Amino acid sequence: MASPGCPTCQGSGWVCEHHPDSPSAVTTTNGCACGAPAENCDCNPDGKAEFAVVYASVEPVKESIS
Ligand SMILES: [Zn+2]
Ligand SMILES: [Zn+2]
Repeated sequence: MASPGCPTCQGSGWVCEHHPDSPSAVTTTNGCACGAPAENCDCNPDGKAEFAVVYASVEPVKESIS
């Protein structure tokens, strides 16, 4: 369960994968909108269930392994 008082993710339980000190726009209205996917915050280590929901709501990450 996310911490309502967490300043890092603003209580959403999710942060930007590229900016772990900012909440993700995927889950937070004024969160980081750099385009990186959300990553569970330290206060939300068991967010796997919600993780699928988050990913279902965003564009697939462009995978380039070259
Ligand atoms: Zn947090
Ligand atoms: Zn970001």
